[in-house]
Amino acid sequence: MARKRHPNKHIEAAIQYAEDRGWTFVKGLGHCFGILRCPFACFCSKSVWSTPRSPENHAKDITRTVEKCPQTPGREARGEE
Ligand SMILES: [Zn+2]
Repeated sequence: MARKRHPNKHIEAAIQYAEDRGWTFVKGLGHCFGILRCPFACFCSKSVWSTPRSPENHAKDITRTVEKCPQTPGREARGEE
C-alpha cells in the first residue's frame, strides 16, 4: 500500500524523514494531507497540510517535531539538550 506522495518536494522529504524513523503516516482529508504519528508511547503527532503558506517552513516544522520526540532515534548524534 503505497502512500500518496506530497506534491511539494520539501514536505515530501520531511514525511520520508519521519517514516525513516518509524513514524506512521495517516491519510487526511481536505486541507489536511495527513497526520504523522510516532510509534512510541509518547504519541507525538504532526498534521501535514496540503498547501501550507510556506512549504519549506512547514517541512522544517515537521522535521523539528520528529526530532523533538524523546524516543525517536537520532537525537544523541546532535547532542541532548
Ligand atoms: Zn514520540
